[in-house]
Amino acid sequence: MRLLLVEDHVPLADELLAGLTRQGYAVDWLADGRDAVYQGASEPYDLIILDLGLPGKPGLEVLQEWRTGGIATPVLILTARGSWAERIEGLKVGADDYLTKPFHPEELQLRIQALLRRARGLANQPQLHAAGLQLDESRQCVSRNGDEVDLTAAEFRLLRYFMLHAGQILSKSHLAEHLYDGETERDSNVIEVHVNHLRRKLGREVIETRRGQGYRFSGDAA
Ligand code: CA
Repeated sequence: MRLLLVEDHVPLADELLAGLTRQGYAVDWLADGRDAVYQGASEPYDLIILDLGLPGKPGLEVLQEWRTGGIATPVLILTARGSWAERIEGLKVGADDYLTKPFHPEELQLRIQALLRRARGLANQPQLHAAGLQLDESRQCVSRNGDEVDLTAAEFRLLRYFMLHAGQILSKSHLAEHLYDGETERDSNVIEVHVNHLRRKLGREVIETRRGQGYRFSGDAA
């Protein structure tokens, strides 16, 4: 899953970037509101974390411009303690959730997971499951019939994306856009390699190849 983090306080941004990367998210970071308006509308993010106090353009205006422009990406806003007016305004202009600073990193992690599931119509799943597999996102491993299967970081990222999009045909370029940040060179052959590793670990039938179209993870479409 690919996230946009808009936060101008560098120490906090650094900390969040490191944490989110460890959790297997590809993250692009911006500190300026004007840049955020443009990039949030032009890249296919799965979720955006938006600070409201930003140079260039206030976060509330950034969010308003995205929503007016038809950008429906889930947005979690970061607000200052005690500023209930900001939170209300944020929710009114289309924020999906908010966190008040300072917050515990685990709370952010759980809210992100919940928002991503909700966006896929899977809000009822406390743990992602599809095709007989159960994914433990905090431990980054998967179990099948109660047996735990270890995953590399790259396999976990790919499998999580597949499980959030079960039953959908996903092209290699689509997968690359959602699994790598804007700075990383995207090589769709690498995706093929990881798909083959996942098949070897979880069974060939789990990921089907659609010639000329891409891959389809088995299970019901969300
Ligand atoms: Ca700020």
